Amino acid sequence: MRPTIPSAQEPVTDTDEVIAVALESASIPTLMVALLHITGDASILDGKIRPKAAMLGDVQGQLTPQERASVRQQALTALTEYRDRGCALPPQPDADLIHRMMNFQVGQEVPAEYVPMMMEEMALDGSDARADDWRADESLDSIHVTVIGAGMSGILSAIRLEQAGIPYTVIEKNEGVGGTWYENTYPGCRVDIANHFYCYSFEPNHDWSEFFSQQPELREYFERCVDKYGVREQIRFGTEVKEARFDPACGEWEVQLATTSTTESLRTNVLISSVGQLNRPKIPDIPGLDTFGGPLFHSAQWQHEHDLTGKRVAVVGTGASALQLVPEVAKTAGKLYVLQRTPAWMFPNPAYHRKVSDGTKWLFKHVPYYARWYRFLLFWPGSDGLLPSLIVDPQWPQQERSINQANEQTRLFFTQYIQEQLGDRPDLLPKVVPTYPPFGKRMLQDNGNWLTTLTRDNVELITDSIKEIQPGAIVCHADDTSEQQRLEVDAIVFATGFHSNKFLWPMEIIGRSGQKLNERWGEEPRAYLGITVPDFPNLFCIYGPATNLAHAGSIIFHSECQVRYIMGCIRSLVESKKRSMECKTAVHDAFNQRLDEALAKTVWAHPGVDSWYKNKNGRVTTTSPWRLVDYWNWTRTPDLNDFHME
Ligand code: NAP
Repeated sequence: MRPTIPSAQEPVTDTDEVIAVALESASIPTLMVALLHITGDASILDGKIRPKAAMLGDVQGQLTPQERASVRQQALTALTEYRDRGCALPPQPDADLIHRMMNFQVGQEVPAEYVPMMMEEMALDGSDARADDWRADESLDSIHVTVIGAGMSGILSAIRLEQAGIPYTVIEKNEGVGGTWYENTYPGCRVDIANHFYCYSFEPNHDWSEFFSQQPELREYFERCVDKYGVREQIRFGTEVKEARFDPACGEWEVQLATTSTTESLRTNVLISSVGQLNRPKIPDIPGLDTFGGPLFHSAQWQHEHDLTGKRVAVVGTGASALQLVPEVAKTAGKLYVLQRTPAWMFPNPAYHRKVSDGTKWLFKHVPYYARWYRFLLFWPGSDGLLPSLIVDPQWPQQERSINQANEQTRLFFTQYIQEQLGDRPDLLPKVVPTYPPFGKRMLQDNGNWLTTLTRDNVELITDSIKEIQPGAIVCHADDTSEQQRLEVDAIVFATGFHSNKFLWPMEIIGRSGQKLNERWGEEPRAYLGITVPDFPNLFCIYGPATNLAHAGSIIFHSECQVRYIMGCIRSLVESKKRSMECKTAVHDAFNQRLDEALAKTVWAHPGVDSWYKNKNGRVTTTSPWRLVDYWNWTRTPDLNDFHME
């Protein structure tokens, strides 16, 4: 039997006043489709009040205040009647009606090919469709799976293995779960994908305190999942995988483990890497780094013992981590230098630091199906709609600043957003407006906090290049003159990103032929579907090469696709009684040829952009060019013809 999704739906027992107050917080398009579930009356879909095309970050469908008030009034009546009849619901809509409800809520036609994917994501029938309904035989002892990492995707793997009754062990280098959300504790750290979507599809959380929650709350969520799904006992904390070697004689992996004081080896049939792409912090090799003498650390390894209050601090980098931590450090630092090499494009998001009201939480918990439709409303405008605008138009004349008409429009819109904020500091404008096309690097979320911070009296934006580090100082020089600037600082924070192109590094993974994976890959990591690699049987990657999402979705959605595929592979191994499965080279190569062709046309490959999406040769290696709906289809069930089974 397929697992069910906890609805966390509570009956409505509150007074009319409580309901009315909660409705003030409602997303009206979401409320309208939920009303159909409550009343059974589909005429609302044909009424005059109709949400307009959904846009990322907007959950109100551009309805007027009068229209919203009218819907709230209808909802108050419907919810009090629902309460008074003991919360009984009429028969639920059929698939055709649900498709019409989708179209209505997002104010546009949801193409039929998306409907099954979205139905699965919403799980209106309460079933966890991404879990297999297959369970291994109770007495199964012929297979053991080792999962490397207990972050978001490692926990997900463990949950699915547990549900399927497959013996497994999770190896985690940290002393707790959460991966990114365990390690990144810098001030201001928060998720920048809407949280009611950035959570497992089968484990919604109606209690997020913010729409983009902060790190401690995310970590708590994953801690809770580990306990709720009973996988904690299988996690070995404080243990690192150093090496894994495939033994062709018996079709097993021999895995070398190390704690701070011990080493041991483990034999396992299947290896799932859940180590992520943004796991190994990178500090640039700047001359004099070792001579600084004061606190110097990476954003992902925050040294909380150093109080930066009143101190002179330098933050190197202006990527996603810096955009979050700089405003927080600036609040108490004596002087803050922000060292920027390339400015970032920012997406205006007024809700970025917004708290979730009690009314909103009440709606999630009490209004039938409201939370599931709200998830769809977050997902849809952030799914594949943007992708065509990220493809280069070869005829477009101004390739250096934008890649097509839509991209140019976006540039103008984002530039205006920046200009509007810099009223009395136009001097900053040339420094903070990027020259490369929008979306070339990862888009950042902003509610005005970044530029407000850069205009503070105690903050200075430095755009000169770093030349060297000296005791107590960073020395910079302007690129156009050889003039030098010495910044006297007490502490340096490197928000300089991760070794994103070194997948699975520094582990040594040795395949069937004896070749090391990092030698095979070098600068060119590749896998079929980002998951499986010839010569490395029974090794599966989650968030592997070319699976980062830069145009759409949430990485949790992608991980759920990958884990379903991997579970399908494990099931095939068990059912076929084979020892190993290895991706065919021809399949892998053909996929990667298509991948290269697709990526080469995207904004991420733009020659004017340098980012963690690219390797040293300028090829995009980390990021996916595929439509979500295609990747979802490709990963639903493994095609065994793609593998050699032994
Ligand atoms: P990043 O986006 O790679 O940014 C690194 C920054 O450091 C860039 O501004 C880069 O400049 C600069 N830099 C690197 N080497 C430098 C050098 N030698 N001298 C001067 N500047 C240098 O790293 P990140 O901010 O840690 O973010 C990485 C990814 O993690 C994000 O894109 C995102 O996917 C994820 N993340 C997510 C969240 C979230 O969801 N809330 C938060 C943080 C991170 P250039 O641009 O010139 O290379």
